[in-house]
Amino acid sequence: MLPATIIAKKRDRQALSRDEIQFMIRGLTDGRIPDYQIAAWAMAILCRGMDSCEIADLTHAMLDSGCRLGRASDRPRVDKHSTGGLGDKVSLILAPLLALFDVDVPMLSGRGLGITGGTLDKLESYSGYRCDLSLTEIDRQLADIGCAITGTTADIAPADRKLYALRDVTATVPSVALITSSIMCKKLAATLDALVLDVKVGSGAFMQSYDAAVPLADSLRATGASLALPTITVLSDMNQPLGRMVGNACEANEAVEVLQGGGPHDVRTLTLRLGAELLLAIGRFRLIGEAEAKLAEYLDQGSAFERFSELIHAQRGTLQYPLPLASAHTLESTRGGWITRIDGQAIGTAVIALGGGRQRQGDRIDHTVGLEMLVRLGDAVEPQQPIARIFARSEDSATAAAQLAASAIHIASAPIRPPPLVYDFPPPADPASAPGGVDR
Ligand code: URA
Repeated sequence: MLPATIIAKKRDRQALSRDEIQFMIRGLTDGRIPDYQIAAWAMAILCRGMDSCEIADLTHAMLDSGCRLGRASDRPRVDKHSTGGLGDKVSLILAPLLALFDVDVPMLSGRGLGITGGTLDKLESYSGYRCDLSLTEIDRQLADIGCAITGTTADIAPADRKLYALRDVTATVPSVALITSSIMCKKLAATLDALVLDVKVGSGAFMQSYDAAVPLADSLRATGASLALPTITVLSDMNQPLGRMVGNACEANEAVEVLQGGGPHDVRTLTLRLGAELLLAIGRFRLIGEAEAKLAEYLDQGSAFERFSELIHAQRGTLQYPLPLASAHTLESTRGGWITRIDGQAIGTAVIALGGGRQRQGDRIDHTVGLEMLVRLGDAVEPQQPIARIFARSEDSATAAAQLAASAIHIASAPIRPPPLVYDFPPPADPASAPGGVDR
């Protein structure tokens, strides 16, 4: 087989066979196929797409490029993954919360890149927190406390690591086939019994519209089903940050508020929904409402926070609440009206300007900086009303971030109906009524 022939076949819109896909992924993993041919292949996949069989074969080939996690206990094993957004601190809450249900939650998470935050960066706000657990350490920790949040190890899906690095610099990230196989190969390597995927939709997400997010959600579910991993997808809104806080320590503090039974309504509601979907999938409850009520009880009683403390301690972090933040500066509205649009890309860029996010892999970040949103879509505001607080290290970075945040928060003369937190999915039979929503 020749890489150039396989690239040309995809360029010419033909489906690739399992053998051809395996050949490319093996060549990528052992370095026999050069980066420029892999990059050309990725571009051909992005432009021409893949059918569901090709996506399943690609996922399987990437999974087989590395090891899988062992099974240290007989407990059901579950995980949640989000396609990435602003202010999404749900993983910090959900892993310890689900562990209270006698299930194992091995969360293999990533770092932030571009405007999207990363769970590992948020947890590294706790000094000493280790994100490099070995497969044996993950197993031991699951046996002890039922949850671990750590980085993917070098042994898990090495093909994905190499391919993602190439996609990042060749404008080939936003492909349904490539995103699906990249996410699902790592989740399959964790040998899960159920997976819930939070597919984000809106200005702060990869998929900026409902119509773009639905094919991704369909592809993720179909790939899970064809590789025997029960996969549930939830479409949730990312037209404004989740919760109030965006930035690493800011978000860790907000996660603790929720773990202690308080915190913003949207963060709590989405966490309960995603957790309940998993508990239903493994047969612990029959009704979503019952599962949500039990999950809420564990937040309100303090047991979820206790398990979170055990998690931080087990991974050598020092739990501190609240974590200290950089100096606060207030941003005021320049006019009265209603909040009609929040540009997620600009809010994310403001956090990068403060030093809280990375422009390229390996950049150092400042965990103490960030932004607190004081308004939400649909709110009425008065002139000079505080609309955001900016946590900055210097006056200059505060000014740059304030300008970006001011340009991101649109105030108009007429009110709007805010988007739902969770969209109807699968779409309703009558497309005229999409997108609707369930905001519970
Ligand atoms: N997350 C991943 O792990 N891979 C992608 O391609 C996109 C998001």
